[in-house]
Amino acid sequence: MVRTIGITGGKGGTGKSTIATALAYELAKDSKVLLVDADVDCPNDHLLLSIERKQLQTVEQRIPKWDFGKCIRCGLCSTVCRTNAIVSIKGKKPIFMKQQCNGCGSCVLKCPENAICWDKKDIGQVFIGYGHGIDFLSGELKSNEPISEFVVNSLNDLISEKSADYDYVIIDTAAGTHCPVIAALEMCDIVYAVTEPTPLGKHDLGFILELLKKMNIKSHIILNRSDIGDKTIIQNFAEKYDIDIIAEIPYSKEIIDQYSNGIPVKLDLGSIL
Ligand code: SF4
Ligand code: SF4
Repeated sequence: MVRTIGITGGKGGTGKSTIATALAYELAKDSKVLLVDADVDCPNDHLLLSIERKQLQTVEQRIPKWDFGKCIRCGLCSTVCRTNAIVSIKGKKPIFMKQQCNGCGSCVLKCPENAICWDKKDIGQVFIGYGHGIDFLSGELKSNEPISEFVVNSLNDLISEKSADYDYVIIDTAAGTHCPVIAALEMCDIVYAVTEPTPLGKHDLGFILELLKKMNIKSHIILNRSDIGDKTIIQNFAEKYDIDIIAEIPYSKEIIDQYSNGIPVKLDLGSIL
């Protein structure tokens, strides 16, 4: 049966992607592994593994489209748009800024003349790839598009479709606790929260541990660069949340060199494997 593992973190730069790719690399030596880069604002797992990506599909979002023949210039559509994607000037046609639209549909419902219907826009892409025995999926949001969750949802659909073919699905989420992270974590059976022994690491770890607790997902902490600060900061915090630190990874120049050169990093992942 497939095991879906999330690699996440409260803040960026803790080594989340390094650990996700290293875990995929180790597991793929004797198991079928699908690695999913769900950090769609800034995907980089393909660079860490030197995997060439090929476009699999575009991701679309619905957006409104105006029929100005029906529009009476009442301006009501702009009053319900919470993202300020519609600007109305009395007696003039509404002006639509599609980059700011999240497709909520309020304007379509509000229009008394049925002057608004649906269109769509491309907001991102899903890529596929293969390397080091790892099957790979990667989502990427187009620049200037605000809603990364839709791209993560497309990845989730593909995971649901394909996961039965694998022993492990490893999902590298974005950092933080916003909607696209929650969407990616919803797919996971177990989650490793990556942090580092600094006050900032502890601060942001708190947010992700609270989220994981609310989502009721089994989780552990991975302490990366464990020797760069006072690790009792994280140890005390882990005790407070009753979560174990399953692996400690010391700072290593060798890891940085491998990371910089797109070579799969070999980590001592201890009891994770
Ligand atoms: S669909 Fe929602 S976000 Fe987009 S323009 Fe209409 S009200 Fe604004
Ligand atoms: S609510 Fe409908 S009729 Fe009124 S300005 Fe918007 S599109 Fe035109």
